[in-house]
Amino acid sequence: MPRILLLLPTTTYRTEAFLAAALRMDVEVTIGSEKPNTLARLNPTALLTLSLHDPQQAVREVLNFAGEHPIAAVVAVDDQVTVAAAAICEALSLRQNSVESVLAAGDKHRMRQLFQQAGVPSPGFQLCRLDDDVETLAGQSRYPCVVKPLGLSGSRGVIRVDDEREFVRAVGRLAKILRSESEKRKAENRGAIEGTGLSCDTARQGDQPTSSVNHFLLEDFIGGPEVALEGLLSRGQLRVLALFDKPNPLDGPFFEETIYVTPSRLPTVVQEQITRCTSDAVRALGLSEGPIHAELRLGADGPSVIEVNARSIGGQCSRMLRFGTGISLEELIIRHSLDGDLESPVREHQPAGVMMIPIPRAGQLSAVHGLPAAESVEGIERVTISSHVGQKLVPLPEESIYLGFIFARASSAEAVEAALREAHARLRFVIEPFKISNEPAKTSPVPADFQQ
Ligand code: ADP
Ligand code: CA
Repeated sequence: MPRILLLLPTTTYRTEAFLAAALRMDVEVTIGSEKPNTLARLNPTALLTLSLHDPQQAVREVLNFAGEHPIAAVVAVDDQVTVAAAAICEALSLRQNSVESVLAAGDKHRMRQLFQQAGVPSPGFQLCRLDDDVETLAGQSRYPCVVKPLGLSGSRGVIRVDDEREFVRAVGRLAKILRSESEKRKAENRGAIEGTGLSCDTARQGDQPTSSVNHFLLEDFIGGPEVALEGLLSRGQLRVLALFDKPNPLDGPFFEETIYVTPSRLPTVVQEQITRCTSDAVRALGLSEGPIHAELRLGADGPSVIEVNARSIGGQCSRMLRFGTGISLEELIIRHSLDGDLESPVREHQPAGVMMIPIPRAGQLSAVHGLPAAESVEGIERVTISSHVGQKLVPLPEESIYLGFIFARASSAEAVEAALREAHARLRFVIEPFKISNEPAKTSPVPADFQQ
Protein backbone atom coordinates (compact mmCIF):
# COMPACT_ATOMS: atom_id res chain seq x y z
CA MET A 1 0.00 0.00 0.00
CA PRO A 2 1.38 3.44 -0.84
CA ARG A 3 2.23 5.67 2.12
CA ILE A 4 1.00 9.24 2.29
CA LEU A 5 2.41 11.88 4.60
CA LEU A 6 -0.33 14.18 5.94
CA LEU A 7 1.16 17.42 7.20
CA LEU A 8 -0.98 18.80 10.02
CA PRO A 9 -0.71 22.32 11.32
CA THR A 10 -1.56 22.46 15.00
CA THR A 11 -4.46 24.82 14.45
CA THR A 12 -6.89 23.80 11.77
CA TYR A 13 -10.49 22.71 11.51
CA ARG A 14 -9.48 20.33 8.77
CA THR A 15 -7.73 17.45 10.54
CA GLU A 16 -10.78 15.30 11.07
CA ALA A 17 -11.94 15.43 7.44
CA PHE A 18 -8.49 14.62 6.02
CA LEU A 19 -7.90 11.82 8.50
CA ALA A 20 -11.31 10.32 7.87
CA ALA A 21 -10.67 10.39 4.11
CA ALA A 22 -7.19 8.86 4.42
CA LEU A 23 -8.39 6.10 6.73
CA ARG A 24 -11.14 5.16 4.25
CA MET A 25 -8.61 4.70 1.47
CA ASP A 26 -6.15 1.91 0.76
CA VAL A 27 -3.14 3.86 1.92
CA GLU A 28 -0.70 3.82 4.80
CA VAL A 29 -0.92 7.12 6.64
CA THR A 30 1.87 8.95 8.41
CA ILE A 31 0.91 12.15 10.18
CA GLY A 32 3.60 14.80 10.31
CA SER A 33 3.06 17.49 12.93
CA GLU A 34 5.01 19.89 15.12
CA LYS A 35 3.93 18.56 18.45
CA PRO A 36 5.69 15.46 19.69
CA ASN A 37 2.98 12.91 20.29
CA THR A 38 3.37 10.39 23.08
CA LEU A 39 1.68 7.79 20.89
CA ALA A 40 4.53 8.14 18.39
CA ARG A 41 6.59 5.79 20.52
CA LEU A 42 3.94 3.11 20.18
CA ASN A 43 3.55 3.46 16.43
CA PRO A 44 6.51 5.41 15.04
CA THR A 45 5.52 5.01 11.38
CA ALA A 46 2.10 6.58 11.94
CA LEU A 47 3.21 9.74 13.71
CA LEU A 48 6.22 11.81 12.85
CA THR A 49 7.31 14.93 14.71
CA LEU A 50 8.50 17.49 12.16
CA SER A 51 9.88 21.02 12.39
CA LEU A 52 7.21 22.31 10.04
CA HIS A 53 8.05 25.95 10.84
CA ASP A 54 11.52 25.31 9.40
CA PRO A 55 10.93 23.62 6.01
CA GLN A 56 14.61 22.74 5.42
CA GLN A 57 14.83 21.00 8.79
CA ALA A 58 11.52 19.25 8.09
CA VAL A 59 13.01 17.99 4.80
CA ARG A 60 15.98 16.44 6.64
CA GLU A 61 13.65 14.80 9.14
CA VAL A 62 11.42 13.38 6.41
CA LEU A 63 14.38 12.11 4.36
CA ASN A 64 15.58 10.17 7.40
CA PHE A 65 12.19 8.57 7.78
CA ALA A 66 11.54 8.00 4.07
CA GLY A 67 14.76 5.99 3.70
CA GLU A 68 13.01 3.15 5.48
CA HIS A 69 9.39 4.01 4.78
CA PRO A 70 9.02 5.30 1.22
CA ILE A 71 6.51 8.14 0.86
CA ALA A 72 4.30 8.19 -2.25
CA ALA A 73 2.64 11.55 -1.67
CA VAL A 74 2.58 14.52 0.69
CA VAL A 75 -0.65 16.34 1.53
CA ALA A 76 -0.70 19.74 3.26
CA VAL A 77 -3.82 19.85 5.39
CA ASP A 78 -3.94 23.65 5.60
CA ASP A 79 -1.99 26.65 4.39
CA GLN A 80 0.43 26.98 7.31
CA VAL A 81 2.21 23.85 6.07
CA THR A 82 2.14 24.29 2.28
CA VAL A 83 5.73 25.56 2.16
CA ALA A 84 7.02 22.57 4.11
CA ALA A 85 4.97 20.26 1.84
CA ALA A 86 6.47 21.82 -1.29
CA ALA A 87 10.02 21.58 0.09
CA ILE A 88 9.54 17.93 1.11
CA CYS A 89 8.09 17.02 -2.30
CA GLU A 90 11.00 18.72 -4.04
CA ALA A 91 13.44 16.64 -1.97
CA LEU A 92 11.52 13.43 -2.63
CA SER A 93 11.09 14.25 -6.36
CA LEU A 94 7.30 14.17 -6.05
CA ARG A 95 5.19 16.30 -8.39
CA GLN A 96 4.12 19.38 -6.43
CA ASN A 97 3.99 23.16 -6.40
CA SER A 98 7.39 24.83 -6.33
CA VAL A 99 8.42 26.34 -3.00
CA GLU A 100 8.63 29.72 -4.70
CA SER A 101 5.04 29.57 -5.96
CA VAL A 102 3.68 28.60 -2.56
CA LEU A 103 5.66 31.37 -0.88
CA ALA A 104 4.21 33.85 -3.38
CA ALA A 105 0.66 32.66 -2.66
CA GLY A 106 1.31 33.29 1.06
CA ASP A 107 2.59 36.84 0.59
CA LYS A 108 -0.08 39.31 -0.43
CA HIS A 109 2.40 41.85 -1.78
CA ARG A 110 4.36 39.35 -3.88
CA MET A 111 1.04 38.06 -5.20
CA ARG A 112 -0.06 41.56 -6.28
CA GLN A 113 3.29 42.15 -7.99
CA LEU A 114 3.06 38.89 -9.94
CA PHE A 115 -0.54 39.62 -10.95
CA GLN A 116 0.44 43.08 -12.13
CA GLN A 117 3.41 41.78 -14.16
CA ALA A 118 1.23 39.14 -15.81
CA GLY A 119 -1.67 41.54 -16.48
CA VAL A 120 -4.08 39.62 -14.23
CA PRO A 121 -6.92 41.97 -13.23
CA SER A 122 -6.52 42.68 -9.51
CA PRO A 123 -6.76 45.74 -7.25
CA GLY A 124 -4.28 48.59 -7.65
CA PHE A 125 -1.89 48.48 -4.68
CA GLN A 126 0.88 50.22 -2.81
CA LEU A 127 3.26 48.73 -0.26
CA CYS A 128 3.48 50.99 2.79
CA ARG A 129 5.53 50.92 5.98
CA LEU A 130 3.85 51.21 9.34
CA ASP A 131 6.32 53.94 10.25
CA ASP A 132 5.57 55.97 7.10
CA ASP A 133 3.94 59.29 7.87
CA VAL A 134 0.34 58.18 8.02
CA GLU A 135 -1.14 61.69 7.52
CA THR A 136 0.81 62.07 4.29
CA LEU A 137 -0.27 58.63 3.07
CA ALA A 138 -3.88 59.47 3.94
CA GLY A 139 -3.64 62.67 1.93
CA GLN A 140 -2.27 60.87 -1.13
CA SER A 141 -4.71 57.92 -1.14
CA ARG A 142 -7.65 57.35 -3.45
CA TYR A 143 -10.90 56.47 -1.65
CA PRO A 144 -12.48 54.06 -0.94
CA CYS A 145 -9.44 51.89 -0.30
CA VAL A 146 -8.48 48.86 1.74
CA VAL A 147 -5.74 48.63 4.34
CA LYS A 148 -4.47 45.07 4.86
CA PRO A 149 -1.67 43.08 6.44
CA LEU A 150 0.65 41.01 4.25
CA GLY A 151 0.59 37.72 6.06
CA LEU A 152 -2.54 37.25 8.16
CA SER A 153 -5.62 35.34 7.03
CA GLY A 154 -9.36 35.05 7.60
CA SER A 155 -9.80 38.79 6.84
CA ARG A 156 -7.92 39.71 10.03
CA GLY A 157 -6.72 43.29 9.87
CA VAL A 158 -8.41 43.95 6.51
CA ILE A 159 -10.22 47.31 6.76
CA ARG A 160 -12.05 49.42 4.19
CA VAL A 161 -11.58 53.17 4.60
CA ASP A 162 -13.54 55.94 2.96
CA ASP A 163 -11.65 59.06 3.96
CA GLU A 164 -8.44 60.41 5.49
CA ARG A 165 -9.70 60.31 9.07
CA GLU A 166 -10.72 56.65 8.77
CA PHE A 167 -7.41 55.90 7.10
CA VAL A 168 -5.38 57.17 10.05
CA ARG A 169 -7.51 55.21 12.53
CA ALA A 170 -7.37 52.01 10.45
CA VAL A 171 -3.59 52.07 10.16
CA GLY A 172 -3.32 52.58 13.94
CA ARG A 173 -5.61 49.66 14.52
CA LEU A 174 -3.71 47.41 12.08
CA ALA A 175 -0.40 48.38 13.72
CA LYS A 176 -1.78 47.19 17.06
CA ILE A 177 -2.92 43.88 15.57
CA LEU A 178 0.48 43.30 13.98
CA ARG A 179 2.30 44.21 17.20
CA SER A 180 0.26 41.77 19.26
CA GLU A 181 0.75 39.08 16.60
CA SER A 182 4.49 39.68 16.65
CA GLU A 183 4.57 39.46 20.47
CA LYS A 184 2.68 36.18 20.28
CA ARG A 185 5.19 34.76 17.81
CA LYS A 186 8.14 35.86 19.91
CA ALA A 187 6.64 34.10 22.91
CA GLU A 188 6.11 30.99 20.79
CA ASN A 189 9.72 31.07 19.60
CA ARG A 190 10.94 31.33 23.18
CA GLY A 191 8.78 28.33 23.98
CA ALA A 192 10.32 26.42 21.09
CA ILE A 193 13.87 27.30 22.08
CA GLU A 194 13.37 26.51 25.74
CA GLY A 195 11.62 23.28 24.83
CA THR A 196 8.52 24.27 26.71
CA GLY A 197 6.29 23.12 23.87
CA LEU A 198 5.13 24.83 20.73
CA SER A 199 1.91 26.70 20.64
CA CYS A 200 -0.74 26.19 18.04
CA ASP A 201 0.37 28.70 15.46
CA THR A 202 4.08 27.96 15.30
CA ALA A 203 3.89 26.22 11.97
CA ARG A 204 2.77 29.48 10.43
CA GLN A 205 6.13 31.13 10.99
CA GLY A 206 7.72 29.30 8.09
CA ASP A 207 5.58 30.95 5.46
CA GLN A 208 5.21 34.40 6.91
CA PRO A 209 6.86 37.03 4.75
CA THR A 210 9.61 38.65 6.83
CA SER A 211 8.35 42.16 6.15
CA SER A 212 4.85 41.32 7.36
CA VAL A 213 5.26 43.00 10.73
CA ASN A 214 6.49 46.36 9.44
CA HIS A 215 4.54 46.73 6.24
CA PHE A 216 0.98 46.79 5.05
CA LEU A 217 -0.82 46.98 1.73
CA LEU A 218 -2.99 49.79 0.57
CA GLU A 219 -5.36 48.64 -2.19
CA ASP A 220 -8.11 50.13 -4.29
CA PHE A 221 -11.47 48.92 -2.99
CA ILE A 222 -13.16 46.79 -5.66
CA GLY A 223 -16.92 46.85 -5.15
CA GLY A 224 -19.40 44.31 -6.48
CA PRO A 225 -20.28 40.71 -5.69
CA GLU A 226 -17.63 38.30 -4.47
CA VAL A 227 -17.20 34.66 -5.48
CA ALA A 228 -14.94 31.84 -4.36
CA LEU A 229 -13.58 29.23 -6.72
CA GLU A 230 -12.49 25.81 -5.53
CA GLY A 231 -10.14 24.17 -7.99
CA LEU A 232 -7.64 21.40 -8.52
CA LEU A 233 -4.44 21.85 -10.51
CA SER A 234 -2.74 19.23 -12.56
CA ARG A 235 0.43 20.19 -14.47
CA GLY A 236 -0.74 23.79 -14.19
CA GLN A 237 -4.17 23.08 -15.70
CA LEU A 238 -7.11 24.29 -13.59
CA ARG A 239 -10.16 22.13 -13.07
CA VAL A 240 -13.03 23.94 -11.37
CA LEU A 241 -14.50 21.81 -8.60
CA ALA A 242 -17.07 24.38 -7.48
CA LEU A 243 -17.86 28.04 -7.88
CA PHE A 244 -19.52 29.67 -4.86
CA ASP A 245 -21.59 32.83 -4.72
CA LYS A 246 -21.29 34.86 -1.53
CA PRO A 247 -24.76 36.42 -1.50
CA ASN A 248 -24.20 38.76 1.45
CA PRO A 249 -22.61 42.02 0.28
CA LEU A 250 -19.01 42.50 1.44
CA ASP A 251 -18.85 46.27 1.58
CA GLY A 252 -16.77 46.57 4.75
CA PRO A 253 -15.44 48.15 6.82
CA PHE A 254 -14.61 44.55 7.85
CA PHE A 255 -15.04 41.48 5.67
CA GLU A 256 -16.68 38.73 7.62
CA GLU A 257 -17.44 35.57 5.67
CA THR A 258 -21.03 34.37 5.98
CA ILE A 259 -22.90 32.49 3.25
CA TYR A 260 -21.37 30.37 0.46
CA VAL A 261 -23.73 28.75 -2.08
CA THR A 262 -22.90 26.53 -5.03
CA PRO A 263 -23.62 26.28 -7.94
CA SER A 264 -23.23 29.92 -8.74
CA ARG A 265 -26.26 31.78 -10.06
CA LEU A 266 -24.10 34.01 -12.26
CA PRO A 267 -24.55 33.87 -16.04
CA THR A 268 -22.38 31.24 -17.78
CA VAL A 269 -20.31 33.87 -19.60
CA VAL A 270 -19.39 35.51 -16.30
CA GLN A 271 -18.52 32.12 -14.79
CA GLU A 272 -16.24 31.46 -17.76
CA GLN A 273 -14.54 34.83 -17.26
CA ILE A 274 -13.98 33.94 -13.60
CA THR A 275 -12.39 30.61 -14.55
CA ARG A 276 -10.11 32.25 -17.14
CA CYS A 277 -9.09 34.95 -14.70
CA THR A 278 -8.32 32.36 -11.99
CA SER A 279 -6.27 30.28 -14.46
CA ASP A 280 -4.25 33.36 -15.35
CA ALA A 281 -3.73 34.16 -11.66
CA VAL A 282 -2.56 30.61 -10.92
CA ARG A 283 -0.11 30.76 -13.83
CA ALA A 284 1.20 34.14 -12.64
CA LEU A 285 1.95 32.64 -9.21
CA GLY A 286 3.50 29.52 -10.77
CA LEU A 287 1.23 27.12 -8.89
CA SER A 288 0.88 23.82 -10.71
CA GLU A 289 -0.44 20.98 -8.53
CA GLY A 290 -3.16 20.29 -6.01
CA PRO A 291 -6.00 22.31 -4.54
CA ILE A 292 -6.51 26.05 -4.84
CA HIS A 293 -9.04 28.36 -3.26
CA ALA A 294 -9.46 31.68 -5.06
CA GLU A 295 -11.50 34.78 -4.24
CA LEU A 296 -12.60 37.23 -6.89
CA ARG A 297 -14.70 40.38 -6.99
CA LEU A 298 -16.94 41.15 -9.91
CA GLY A 299 -16.18 44.80 -10.39
CA ALA A 300 -17.48 47.19 -13.03
CA ASP A 301 -14.73 46.03 -15.45
CA GLY A 302 -15.22 42.29 -14.87
CA PRO A 303 -13.59 39.86 -12.44
CA SER A 304 -10.71 41.06 -10.28
CA VAL A 305 -8.62 38.58 -8.28
CA ILE A 306 -8.47 39.25 -4.54
CA GLU A 307 -6.30 36.24 -3.79
CA VAL A 308 -5.41 32.66 -4.62
CA ASN A 309 -4.48 30.27 -1.82
CA ALA A 310 -2.60 27.03 -2.45
CA ARG A 311 -5.02 25.01 -0.33
CA SER A 312 -8.59 23.78 -0.31
CA ILE A 313 -11.55 25.64 1.18
CA GLY A 314 -11.11 26.46 4.89
CA GLY A 315 -12.95 25.68 8.09
CA GLN A 316 -15.50 22.90 7.90
CA CYS A 317 -16.89 24.23 4.61
CA SER A 318 -15.67 21.31 2.51
CA ARG A 319 -18.49 19.28 4.01
CA MET A 320 -20.72 20.88 1.35
CA LEU A 321 -18.84 19.22 -1.48
CA ARG A 322 -19.26 15.64 -2.61
CA PHE A 323 -17.96 14.15 -5.81
CA GLY A 324 -18.97 11.17 -7.92
CA THR A 325 -20.55 8.62 -5.64
CA GLY A 326 -20.11 10.49 -2.40
CA ILE A 327 -16.34 11.10 -2.42
CA SER A 328 -15.25 13.93 -0.11
CA LEU A 329 -13.07 16.84 -1.21
CA GLU A 330 -10.30 15.56 1.08
CA GLU A 331 -10.40 12.12 -0.53
CA LEU A 332 -10.23 13.73 -3.94
CA ILE A 333 -7.18 15.75 -2.86
CA ILE A 334 -5.43 12.67 -1.46
CA ARG A 335 -6.18 10.65 -4.61
CA HIS A 336 -4.86 13.50 -6.70
CA SER A 337 -1.67 13.68 -4.63
CA LEU A 338 -1.05 10.00 -5.45
CA ASP A 339 -1.93 10.33 -9.11
CA GLY A 340 -1.91 13.88 -10.44
CA ASP A 341 -3.31 12.78 -13.79
CA LEU A 342 -6.34 11.06 -12.31
CA GLU A 343 -9.65 11.92 -14.00
CA SER A 344 -11.47 13.34 -11.02
CA PRO A 345 -15.21 12.77 -10.69
CA VAL A 346 -17.60 15.72 -10.94
CA ARG A 347 -19.36 17.38 -8.05
CA GLU A 348 -22.75 16.00 -7.11
CA HIS A 349 -24.98 18.61 -8.66
CA GLN A 350 -27.46 19.15 -5.84
CA PRO A 351 -27.15 22.78 -4.72
CA ALA A 352 -25.42 23.15 -1.36
CA GLY A 353 -24.31 25.91 0.95
CA VAL A 354 -22.78 26.84 4.24
CA MET A 355 -23.08 29.78 6.57
CA MET A 356 -20.18 30.67 8.77
CA ILE A 357 -22.00 32.09 11.77
CA PRO A 358 -20.63 35.56 12.44
CA ILE A 359 -20.01 37.05 15.87
CA PRO A 360 -22.70 39.70 16.41
CA ARG A 361 -20.66 41.60 19.02
CA ALA A 362 -17.62 41.37 21.27
CA GLY A 363 -18.04 39.57 24.59
CA GLN A 364 -18.04 36.24 26.27
CA LEU A 365 -20.30 33.49 24.95
CA SER A 366 -22.55 32.34 27.77
CA ALA A 367 -25.27 30.29 26.04
CA VAL A 368 -26.57 29.11 22.67
CA HIS A 369 -30.31 28.60 22.14
CA GLY A 370 -32.42 27.31 19.28
CA LEU A 371 -30.20 24.56 17.93
CA PRO A 372 -32.99 21.96 17.43
CA ALA A 373 -35.21 24.61 15.82
CA ALA A 374 -32.42 25.62 13.45
CA GLU A 375 -31.67 22.02 12.53
CA SER A 376 -35.33 21.34 11.82
CA VAL A 377 -35.50 23.87 8.98
CA GLU A 378 -36.12 22.05 5.70
CA GLY A 379 -32.88 21.64 3.78
CA ILE A 380 -30.63 22.06 6.81
CA GLU A 381 -28.24 19.14 7.10
CA ARG A 382 -26.34 20.12 10.16
CA VAL A 383 -25.56 22.98 12.53
CA THR A 384 -22.26 22.87 14.42
CA ILE A 385 -21.30 25.35 17.08
CA SER A 386 -17.52 25.61 17.12
CA SER A 387 -17.17 28.27 19.83
CA HIS A 388 -17.51 27.03 23.38
CA VAL A 389 -19.45 28.55 26.25
CA GLY A 390 -17.11 30.84 28.15
CA GLN A 391 -15.08 31.67 25.02
CA LYS A 392 -14.02 35.28 24.52
CA LEU A 393 -15.43 36.46 21.24
CA VAL A 394 -13.41 39.17 19.58
CA PRO A 395 -14.84 40.20 16.20
CA LEU A 396 -12.94 41.26 13.09
CA PRO A 397 -10.64 42.90 12.39
CA GLU A 398 -8.75 41.90 15.58
CA GLU A 399 -9.62 38.20 15.44
CA SER A 400 -11.24 35.88 12.95
CA ILE A 401 -13.56 33.66 14.96
CA TYR A 402 -16.85 32.15 13.86
CA LEU A 403 -19.52 30.86 16.19
CA GLY A 404 -20.11 27.80 14.05
CA PHE A 405 -21.30 26.50 10.70
CA ILE A 406 -24.73 25.80 9.20
CA PHE A 407 -24.92 23.38 6.25
CA ALA A 408 -27.78 23.08 3.77
CA ARG A 409 -28.72 21.15 0.64
CA ALA A 410 -31.84 21.83 -1.41
CA SER A 411 -33.27 21.69 -4.90
CA SER A 412 -32.14 25.20 -5.85
CA ALA A 413 -29.45 27.68 -4.83
CA GLU A 414 -32.23 30.07 -3.74
CA ALA A 415 -33.71 27.41 -1.44
CA VAL A 416 -30.27 26.69 0.04
CA GLU A 417 -29.74 30.36 0.80
CA ALA A 418 -33.23 30.74 2.31
CA ALA A 419 -32.72 27.67 4.53
CA LEU A 420 -29.41 29.01 5.82
CA ARG A 421 -30.97 32.38 6.65
CA GLU A 422 -33.96 30.80 8.37
CA ALA A 423 -31.78 28.46 10.46
CA HIS A 424 -29.56 31.36 11.46
CA ALA A 425 -32.57 33.42 12.49
CA ARG A 426 -33.65 30.62 14.85
CA LEU A 427 -30.33 30.59 16.70
CA ARG A 428 -29.78 32.87 19.65
CA PHE A 429 -26.37 33.51 21.13
CA VAL A 430 -26.16 35.02 24.60
CA ILE A 431 -23.02 37.11 24.78
CA GLU A 432 -22.05 38.87 28.02
CA PRO A 433 -19.96 42.02 27.94
CA PHE A 434 -16.28 41.54 28.82
CA LYS A 435 -15.73 41.94 32.55
CA ILE A 436 -13.94 45.16 33.46
CA SER A 437 -10.90 44.66 35.68
CA ASN A 438 -8.02 46.77 36.94
CA GLU A 439 -5.76 45.53 34.19
CA PRO A 440 -7.26 47.02 31.04
CA ALA A 441 -4.40 45.91 28.77
CA LYS A 442 -5.14 42.25 29.44
CA THR A 443 -8.89 42.33 29.75
CA SER A 444 -9.68 44.61 26.87
CA PRO A 445 -8.82 42.69 23.73
CA VAL A 446 -10.81 45.05 21.50
CA PRO A 447 -10.17 48.77 21.29
CA ALA A 448 -12.45 50.94 23.41
CA ASP A 449 -14.10 52.47 20.34
CA PHE A 450 -15.19 49.02 19.22
CA GLN A 451 -16.64 47.62 22.42
CA GLN A 452 -20.40 47.52 22.55
P1 ADP B 1 -7.40 37.19 3.96
O1 ADP B 1 -6.22 36.41 3.48
O2 ADP B 1 -7.27 37.66 5.34
O3 ADP B 1 -8.67 36.47 3.66
P2 ADP B 1 -8.02 38.92 1.69
O4 ADP B 1 -7.04 39.68 0.91
O5 ADP B 1 -8.59 37.71 1.04
O6 ADP B 1 -7.38 38.55 3.09
O7 ADP B 1 -9.20 39.89 2.11
C1 ADP B 1 -10.30 39.45 2.88
C2 ADP B 1 -11.60 39.96 2.29
O8 ADP B 1 -11.55 41.40 2.27
C3 ADP B 1 -11.85 39.56 0.86
O9 ADP B 1 -12.52 38.32 0.78
C4 ADP B 1 -12.70 40.71 0.34
O10 ADP B 1 -14.06 40.55 0.72
C5 ADP B 1 -12.16 41.90 1.10
N1 ADP B 1 -11.13 42.60 0.30
C6 ADP B 1 -9.80 42.46 0.40
N2 ADP B 1 -9.17 43.27 -0.48
C7 ADP B 1 -10.12 43.92 -1.16
C8 ADP B 1 -10.12 44.92 -2.18
N3 ADP B 1 -8.98 45.41 -2.67
N4 ADP B 1 -11.31 45.37 -2.63
C9 ADP B 1 -12.48 44.91 -2.12
N5 ADP B 1 -12.55 44.00 -1.14
C10 ADP B 1 -11.39 43.49 -0.66
CA1 CA C 1 -9.11 35.57 1.65
